[in-house]
Amino acid sequence: MTAGHGCHDVAIVGGGLVGASLALALQRAGLYVALIDPQAPQIPPVADAWGSRIYAISPGNADFLESLGVWSRLNAQRVQRVEAMAICGDAPAGRLEFSAYEAGLRELAYIVEGSALLQALRAAIADTGQVRIVCPAQAASLQVEADSAQLTLADGTRIPAQLVIGTDGGDSWVRRAAGITARVSDYRQLGVVANFETEKNHGGSAFQWFRADGVLALLPLPGKRVSMVWSVTEDHARTLLAMDAQALADAVGAASGGVVGGLRLMTPAAGFPLRLAHIDNLVAPRIALAGDAAHHVHPLAGQGVNLGFRDVRELAAVLAGRAPLQDCGDLSLLRRYARARREDIATMALGTDVLQKLFAAQSVWLSGARNSGMAVVNRLPFLKNLLIRHAAA
Ligand SMILES: Cc1cc2nc3c(=O)[nH]c(=O)nc-3n(C[C@H](O)[C@H](O)[C@H](O)COP(=O)(O)OP(=O)(O)OC[C@H]3O[C@@H](n4cnc5c(N)ncnc54)[C@H](O)[C@@H]3O)c2cc1C
Repeated sequence: MTAGHGCHDVAIVGGGLVGASLALALQRAGLYVALIDPQAPQIPPVADAWGSRIYAISPGNADFLESLGVWSRLNAQRVQRVEAMAICGDAPAGRLEFSAYEAGLRELAYIVEGSALLQALRAAIADTGQVRIVCPAQAASLQVEADSAQLTLADGTRIPAQLVIGTDGGDSWVRRAAGITARVSDYRQLGVVANFETEKNHGGSAFQWFRADGVLALLPLPGKRVSMVWSVTEDHARTLLAMDAQALADAVGAASGGVVGGLRLMTPAAGFPLRLAHIDNLVAPRIALAGDAAHHVHPLAGQGVNLGFRDVRELAAVLAGRAPLQDCGDLSLLRRYARARREDIATMALGTDVLQKLFAAQSVWLSGARNSGMAVVNRLPFLKNLLIRHAAA
């Protein structure tokens, strides 16, 4: 702990996957951290039923979570390694195949339940006994002064800190309170998620189809199970969400060409609105943003929380590497973080947006171009390896 007089080094607003991992990383770096979230600190133990929020986590981020003592807390029986991936366009020529083996990797990604990962993070934080957990609590006002920032909660509690970090999601309160503007465009789509039992083995492979009616992904879960994310227009999503279990399983089975045989719904389908948000500044005096508060991208590349964990890795490294006696809220320090994160965030936001628009466009010419583009990339091992290594970071 470095800050004195009851002033925290860092107050983190938002205790989701990104905020919780940041709290742990900064505590490990010797900082005095407060973590504020409207949800209760203890989340119920993971039940036998599979959670509906499933994430593909890159090997680089799994290593980072292991360095915090989190990954090994997960039940290995509920984590699936992705060893191959097939991406299909909307014509037979359009096909891209990735293999961990060919790229010289052990796996392309891991598939985990969001609830299990959050529980492991919170247990690791509780075990340190060194993070001030302030939840359930609602931040009400933020004042930035020359030598500190002052957060005031709805119940009047004051939390002084050298630096306030917003990890409070896509609709970030910290971002608004700090006057940082966001350019948000709504895809007018929902990501419909559900888990299924499958007739055939998936063989550790993930599948994705760029279809005229949206992007469908089936991610492998342990055993004969898959997790679906189907990004479709709001109208189509409402139709899918209103279907009974058999009708939905049949619709997904047909759209996926029966690649894993017949399907049986395991968890009720749920829909999440999809947006693209460009945040003009990741930092301001005594303020920094990370995770969805700092960028919001289409889930077709499964990269949202992966970008967030890479923010955490960078921000923790910058704060841990500050000069002796240097204040955590020093703007020159924070700008170093913002600069380091610019390219990764811009590449992912642009890449997912272009892909989404390219395949949403109903044009014969574009259809030919995008499918032959996929076929060309598929024949270029060097480019494929570059893509894989970027996603694996
Ligand atoms: C359908 C779908 C599938 C996806 N699949 C993947 C995937 O496979 N891989 C991947 O990398 N990403 C994926 N994503 C993206 C991923 O869900 C997000 O990027 C990730 O959840 C962001 O985490 P976060 O901690 O930044 O924000 P959030 O998960 O939104 O957490 C924000 C936290 O802040 C708290 N909070 C909110 N308001 C306040 C406030 N005023 N004060 C204090 N606390 C507050 C909330 O309670 C919450 O705990 C997917 C997204 C969707 C929609």
